[in-house]
Formats: sequence, C-alpha cells, structure tokens
Amino acid sequence: MSKVLIYAENFDGKFKKANFEIVSYGAEIARQTGAEAIVLSIGNVPDEELKQLSVYGASRVLSFNDGRFDALENQAYASVIAQAVEKEGAEIVVFSNSNTSKALAPRVSVKLKAGMVFAATGLPKSIDPFMVPKKVFHGKAFADVVIKSPIKIICLSQNSFGITEDAKAVSIETFVAEIDDTVFKTRVTNVEKATGKILLNDAEIIVSGGRGMKGAENWKPLEDLADILGAATACSRPVSDEGWRPHSEHVGQTGKIVAPNLYFALGISGAIQHLAGVSSSKVIVAVNTDHEAPVFQEADYGIIGDVQKVLPQMVEAFRKFKSEN
Ligand SMILES: Cc1cc2nc3c(=O)[nH]c(=O)nc-3n(C[C@H](O)[C@H](O)[C@H](O)COP(=O)(O)OP(=O)(O)OC[C@H]3O[C@@H](n4cnc5c(N)ncnc54)[C@H](O)[C@@H]3O)c2cc1C
Repeated sequence: MSKVLIYAENFDGKFKKANFEIVSYGAEIARQTGAEAIVLSIGNVPDEELKQLSVYGASRVLSFNDGRFDALENQAYASVIAQAVEKEGAEIVVFSNSNTSKALAPRVSVKLKAGMVFAATGLPKSIDPFMVPKKVFHGKAFADVVIKSPIKIICLSQNSFGITEDAKAVSIETFVAEIDDTVFKTRVTNVEKATGKILLNDAEIIVSGGRGMKGAENWKPLEDLADILGAATACSRPVSDEGWRPHSEHVGQTGKIVAPNLYFALGISGAIQHLAGVSSSKVIVAVNTDHEAPVFQEADYGIIGDVQKVLPQMVEAFRKFKSEN
C-alpha cells in the first residue's frame, strides 16, 4: 500500500490547528489514492497529544524523540523526516506552509530528489499526472504545478483545506532514526518567548488597524476588542512606519502573510499590497468611512462609518455577547 507521510510540527509538545488541517488533507489524499496516512512527530510530545491526530484520519503516528531534538535544528530534523519517508516508502509528503516548513521541506526535497509545491491551496487536481494547485504572486494568482518525481512534497497553505474529522484507531509507534552528532550544525543556547500575546501567525482572529485609526493614542479600543475576542493585533505598513505600532505587527506583501478565520480591517484602505497578506482570511470585516475603499471589494462584511465611533460599539457589543454566553 502506498503511503502519505504528514509532518506534524509541535510547539512545546502541543499541536496547533494547522497540523489538524494538514492531517485532514493528507488523509483525504490517502483516501483518494488508496494509501495509508501516517503522521511523523519529532520531539517530546505526550501520547495523549499524539493520539489527537487520529481524529483527523491518520492511522499511525510515528514519534521520534531524542534529547538532541528539543530545539529545532533544520539539518537534523530534515534528516529524520527523510529517513521516515524512505523507511516507510511514502510517496507523498505533506507539510504545513509554516516558517519551519520553509526551512525543512526544501532540505527534505534535496535529500529525496523530490519535487515540491509550496503554498498549495487544495487537493491534487489529478493524480496522474500529479497536479497540485498553488498560490503565486503573494496570492494574487494561482497556478497548477505537475510534480514529476516519484516522491512528491506538498506544503499546504493555512486555511485552504479545512479540518475534517474522520476518527480512526491509531497506533503510536516509536520511530528510530540514525542521526550522527555531526548532522547538527547549530545549537540553540537560549530561547526567550513572547508571553501573554497571541502570535500573528497562530491567531484565529486578527484585529488590524490602518491609517484611518489616526494615531497610536487611539489603539486602546482596538486592543480591547482583540482581548475580548482572544485575537492578535496587526496593522498596515504605514502604521508601523509611523511608529504607531511595532513592525512585527505589519501584514501584507512586505510584512507577515496571515490566514486567520476572521480578519478585522479597521481604517485600512485595502491597497493591493496589504490585501496580498490577508486575502486568505476566511472572513474579512472592514470598517471604513469611504464606501469606495478597495477593502470593501474583498470584505465579507462592511461597515461604512467612522472607526472611532464604530469600534467602541463593537467592543461593547462583543463584551455583552461574551458575558451572556
Ligand atoms: C512595494 C510596496 C510594498 C508595500 N507593502 C505593504 C504591506 O506589506 N502592507 C501594507 O499594509 N501596505 C504596504 N504597502 C503600502 C500600501 O500601498 C498602502 O499605502 C497601505 O497599505 C495603506 O495603508 P492604510 O490603508 O493604513 O492607509 P491609507 O491608504 O491612508 O488608508 C486609510 C483608510 O482609512 C480610511 N479612514 C480614514 N479615516 C477613517 C475613520 N475615521 N474611520 C474609518 N476609516 C477611516 C480611509 O478612507 C482610508 O481608506 C506597500 C507599498 C509598496 C509600494
């Protein structure tokens, strides 16, 4: 039986939503091709957490755990993944489109001489030839790419397939890989984590402000809204250029590319360079005084109004809703 191997990335021993999506995706490819869906996890992840992956259609979970792998080391991680693909005889390898995968997938591709599609947006359109749809030009266009090599690597864009539950009995197996100390080319000596804040790339909801917010002093209600919704905060590029918000919050072509379930664009015009970073959001809500602002063409819900007036009302409404539910 052919196999689809899915690499599940953990953060401090826990899996995030993007992993459930790629397991669902890999399991669906396995179903369509009569293959088996296997997940590979690297690092120290409790069995209970590993078992969760069975909910999304994987039938086996391979767990590789070695004290040297507590911190990400790209060469070493890529070696483990490549060994798992070879030992299992997997023909399709699935990664999420994360920053980590941007480092790992190309290395695995070189080791296995495997064709790779980055930023895939859906299931293969055909199996023979193996054709995968993907985003190009920062999501402004799409292309279909045929992978011709025997082993095929797909990195799936976040929020492009969804999470489907297909619970299976799962076996958790210890995976053994031979990794020489010389494979480790770097060593992490210190990690300082941002605490208390939801990271933009992980956020399911993002509340974002543009120049229409008129100044750093007006951000309090935006932060209140983010707190109530458990959201991350973001901004347009001029806002970070002005120093109203940190550069780490800037989204768009030259900033972070995000794909939350819900994106609030508050006082943001919707320039093409901004939308390039947010257009994969499932639902966009825009507030703008200008009914002709381009953001309304992309938005699912639009409020034409002054953000200084609308935002406090949104905060109140969500606060009330939260307290009642
Ligand atoms: C090469 C290049 C790369 C770029 N990369 C990025 C990028 O990565 N990210 C990015 O964001 N931009 C980027 N830009 C800049 C981009 O072109 C826009 O200039 C920018 O996105 C505009 O930001 P904004 O919408 O906050 O501001 P503006 O364009 O000034 O729009 C402000 C909006 O707020 C509305 N408004 C005003 N007052 C209110 C109010 N009281 N209530 C509600 N709405 C109000 C206005 O109607 C307007 O639509 C890039 C530009 C270039 C040339």
